Amino acid sequence: MLHVTLRNARPHESAAVEERLVASGRFIKRIRNPDNEVMLAKVGAGEVAAVTALLEAMPGVERVVDIKSRYVLSARAAVADRTVVRITDELSIGGTEVVVIGGPCSVESHEQTSSVALAVKSAGARALRGGAFKPRTSPFSFQGLEEDGLDILERVRSETGLPVVSELMSVRKLEAMDRAVDVIQIGMRNALNYPLLKEVGALASRRPVLLKCGIGTSLEEFLCAADYVLAEGNPNVILCLRGTVGISQESRCSMNIVDVSALRRMTHLPIVVDPSHVAGRWEFVPSVAAAALVAGADGLLVEVHDHPEDALSDAEQSLKPERFHQMMHRLRLLAPVLGRTVAECETPVCVPDGHPLEELCLEAPPKNGEPRAARHGHAGPARLVAGA
Ligand code: PEP
Ligand code: MN
Repeated sequence: MLHVTLRNARPHESAAVEERLVASGRFIKRIRNPDNEVMLAKVGAGEVAAVTALLEAMPGVERVVDIKSRYVLSARAAVADRTVVRITDELSIGGTEVVVIGGPCSVESHEQTSSVALAVKSAGARALRGGAFKPRTSPFSFQGLEEDGLDILERVRSETGLPVVSELMSVRKLEAMDRAVDVIQIGMRNALNYPLLKEVGALASRRPVLLKCGIGTSLEEFLCAADYVLAEGNPNVILCLRGTVGISQESRCSMNIVDVSALRRMTHLPIVVDPSHVAGRWEFVPSVAAAALVAGADGLLVEVHDHPEDALSDAEQSLKPERFHQMMHRLRLLAPVLGRTVAECETPVCVPDGHPLEELCLEAPPKNGEPRAARHGHAGPARLVAGA
């Protein structure tokens, strides 16, 4: 597929490029992005070189590439530089900083959301996650506070200054969500819901979209799904790997760490990893987070709850705030080795004694009969890391 980028093209220049493409093969689509225009066309293999040369000489044309993969707009070759998605004036994802988004699985109350938000912020999280509309396996499980949950997220955003990420499941809630949140999450269950992807792509706000990979979805299908959003003129797509079925009965999902590196080669879009849904158990979350960082993730989406044992969803995988704080401390130590940064924390962190990287790893396994809740809180002697 021929991918033609136009920049600052005047209407008659765009029209001339479109005419040329129509004459040279099968014209597929014209995409008007906020700061450029893209045209796609299928051209016979024997004519690609000649048509490319003609197009490159036309005014307004910035770049012409022949993309061989099924995913086109998300393909690495489609743009010269990796995409950095701007979330707010202060926060972008896809640059040197590894952006950590922390918060509860579900918004349960103002008090709970606000206290978790303040805790993750003080540990260096740059955005708040929290589901108001929850996709639950059983229809009898907590389904989220819905619009009331969005009101709480808006309130907590104004109290903390943290941008908010929350999941959209139905096009009927599109406008409410667009008003209330900074990033629209499309969950694993809707990863291939093409009408929904087109609608978030067509939002006039070009609201950033955090698109999760579905269970059993190939990376190729995942990037084709991202193309559905991009094809509507919303270039602000953030990819999120959250694991898929695997061989372990100890964790909820498995994630091939190579997928992060592979995606970095396949696409220019920023990549986030959700270690909480991969792990399914809070004990595994820090090591998955560290592995994701090493493999090249641009961000992490992490579930945190101040009383995980009482959480209305995903209790087993939610970190307590102090655990999250400790994990952030270790990720901050790891990041410079990888040429990355993690935002500073606002309060000193209390870490158990031991080697920092060792502490990224797992707790001792539970003893038989020991209640899980009793193992929250940190084990062994602790020390304060001043100004960490
Ligand atoms: C979530 O983020 O809480 C969630 C439901 O995620 P997923 O769609 O990955 O299951
Ligand atoms: Mn969850």
